[in-house]
Amino acid sequence: MTQEFDVIIVGGGVTGAAAARDCALRGLRTLLLERGDICDGASGRNHGLLHSGARYAVTDPEGARECIRENQILRRVASSCVEPCDGLFITLPEDSLEYQDRFVQACRAAGIAAEPISPEEALRLEPAVNPALIGAVKVPDASVDPFRLTDANIIDAVRHGATILKFHTVTEFIKEKGRIAGVRALPHGESGPLEFRAREVVLAAGIWTAELARSAGVRIEMLPSKGALIIFGHRVAGMVINRCRKPANADILVPGDVVSVLGTTSDKVPLDTIDDMHATPEEVDLLLWEGVQLVPALASTRVIRAYAGVRPLVMAGGEGDGRNVSRGIVVLDHELRDGVPGLITITGGKLTTSRLMAELVTDKVCEKLGVKAPCRTALDPLPGSEKRHPKAEEPYFKRAAIGRHGSEADRMDFKRGREIICECEQVTRAEIAWAVQTLGVRNISDLRRHTRIGMGTCQGSFCIRKVARVLAEELGKPELERDFIADYLQERWKGMTPVLWGDTLREAEYMQTMHRDEI
Ligand SMILES: Cc1cc2nc3c(=O)[nH]c(=O)nc-3n(C[C@H](O)[C@H](O)[C@H](O)COP(=O)(O)OP(=O)(O)OC[C@H]3O[C@@H](n4cnc5c(N)ncnc54)[C@H](O)[C@@H]3O)c2cc1C
Repeated sequence: MTQEFDVIIVGGGVTGAAAARDCALRGLRTLLLERGDICDGASGRNHGLLHSGARYAVTDPEGARECIRENQILRRVASSCVEPCDGLFITLPEDSLEYQDRFVQACRAAGIAAEPISPEEALRLEPAVNPALIGAVKVPDASVDPFRLTDANIIDAVRHGATILKFHTVTEFIKEKGRIAGVRALPHGESGPLEFRAREVVLAAGIWTAELARSAGVRIEMLPSKGALIIFGHRVAGMVINRCRKPANADILVPGDVVSVLGTTSDKVPLDTIDDMHATPEEVDLLLWEGVQLVPALASTRVIRAYAGVRPLVMAGGEGDGRNVSRGIVVLDHELRDGVPGLITITGGKLTTSRLMAELVTDKVCEKLGVKAPCRTALDPLPGSEKRHPKAEEPYFKRAAIGRHGSEADRMDFKRGREIICECEQVTRAEIAWAVQTLGVRNISDLRRHTRIGMGTCQGSFCIRKVARVLAEELGKPELERDFIADYLQERWKGMTPVLWGDTLREAEYMQTMHRDEI
């Protein structure tokens, strides 16, 4: 059976999710197809920095202006996903104070409130920074949870009538009289594809866009730029710490809930490796070496995991490692560009600018379909981000859920599910049940992305059995409990192998002993 829509969006990263929400809010019959879980691509493998734009002020002033505008919008409309912790750009003795002056001027020209402060004041604000610093600038950087931001967009898209199909891989475009008229997508576990038709198809498939575009008969030159990151077992610093120099390796430390994330590298990788991205021990060494210059305490802080993602950068002339290639937003109208009507691409950009990317591509879709509805996403709060602060009488586990999901926590049934399942992150059964019902969670890795279960200090060592049992019960599939544990351990293992020393190695051995039956 063929299903008909106004618009089909391919890709369930933050860009596709935000585009699905914007299209649905403007009254379009919207379908989003994602080959894995929501956030399986770069949107689930980044630094979680809500850029103030300061990082790009010297090298890409337009990108910097986009970032600060979106930073201010997301602080308002996505408040439950953003921690407004601010950031410091520190200058070390081997860097240059002249660069710091240029940096401050460039920030101010881009509309970013950059405030130079003394090294003493920087150490007072953030005692973890390298005490050898010779200069510092305070900027409105923030930390953003990419999973929550994407989920909130998905939840709102569904509430406004969008259909979201996860685990559906787009395999082919339907072409009629030279026009793209829809797609064929293979649901996981099925033998044959389903057909979906729409008047416009939007490619929001991140780094996979180039390959999909090719199968539609258009060429997009992309540069897969790998970035590796490491996670430390607790919040070493409360602010985002950046190095005040031209963007380079390992010069940003971002606090994220109870942990800290250090990154990143930037290396060109072949397109045929993008489905198997992991951090290598060499990348971990490099990150640690550089990170310790920013925050010396990192040398003695437990590293719990390493991971890597691929930036969806578009070639704008010239080769490179990915830092000299456009990170700007790219909207391609393939009717105008390639003579292929019915197809539009949205790529490039950043997590920070995902709302704007969605607005631009939805404007284009509406123009093609003759729809006049204005964009509301800069004004309407995302689900969970309507003003909702924990009340003193609310129990602590509900306050933790409010901290993660804002007003969405009011939809969780704490009367039935007040038992704490993940102690590091204070996740209850009620939150697990909510994730199963609202976000179609199918296994522990999905659950981790949407609730932070297993993302805290113990990385699931102590809670994973409980999680597996409760998830299996909520799904009504008790027979899957052991499989859930085995899959989760396998997934965790990939991130732990490059950081196996000291306490992390001891913990891995402990985990192996505890879960011997499932390994
Ligand atoms: C290491 C690293 C660090 C970063 N740090 C930051 C940061 O701190 N701040 C910031 O603002 N930005 C950051 N970024 C950039 C940001 O993560 C990306 O720009 C953003 O996540 C891209 O989102 P997307 O939805 O366009 O792509 P993706 O998240 O990659 O989504 C594309 C989706 O398409 C799906 N897909 C692919 N093929 C098909 C198919 N055939 N059928 C159906 N679905 C398909 C994939 O499974 C995937 O889920 C970082 C990126 C990296 C790699």
